[in-house]
Amino acid sequence: MSEFEALMNLQSIDLELDALDDRERELPERDRYEKLAAEVKTSEKALAAKEEVLHKERAVQKRYEDKLDALTEKIEREQKKLYSGVVTIPKELTGIQQEIESLKERRDEEETVLLEQLDVVEPIEKEIAVLAERLVSMRAGTEEAKSAYAAVSAEITAARRERKEKREAVLPGVEKGHLELYEKTRKRYRRAVVNLKDGVCQGCHTDIPAVELRKILEAPGLSKCPNCGRIVVKSSK
Ligand SMILES: [Zn+2]
Repeated sequence: MSEFEALMNLQSIDLELDALDDRERELPERDRYEKLAAEVKTSEKALAAKEEVLHKERAVQKRYEDKLDALTEKIEREQKKLYSGVVTIPKELTGIQQEIESLKERRDEEETVLLEQLDVVEPIEKEIAVLAERLVSMRAGTEEAKSAYAAVSAEITAARRERKEKREAVLPGVEKGHLELYEKTRKRYRRAVVNLKDGVCQGCHTDIPAVELRKILEAPGLSKCPNCGRIVVKSSK
């Protein structure tokens, strides 16, 4: 193995790890999942708000119903009194009849009010049913997106683990000094080791002046591009 080969191997593994990082950063699966999850949250809020409105309107409805029930009870009581035979005085009987009539009128009015309230409640109930149904399918879609995201994440994690194992295996073959220079250069450039082709650094694409080039080619060990500082592979012309 040439002095560069182990380093080049290491770099190709590191570049693969970089690519995995890049892929993970820009996963369309995650974007999709996060977008859907946010939409579900928004819909849940809208549904909760509607349910609160419904709760209030139903309380109003209940009040009207109770009023109506109370009137019905009163009417029944008066009717019982009327036909019980306890009251025999015609004037009193007429009074009870009049009371019943006025109670019935009030009940009719209350009934109209209740019907109007039902016209308020029913559309809200329908809206809630539509929202709830939509939420069910939205949640299903989100779950699906979540598993797709989890699957691709697991795939990346497995690939990364495999590369890291490979890296551990390659590492002992890299000379300590080379590794140090490589790690230092990697902080500036992803591709720290580049070819030197016809005297041109393949990292920064600069023509290395002849004098410098000769020095590089003659020097033992690793050399750096005088322009960009990348490690240059000298074996290829
Ligand atoms: Zn360069």
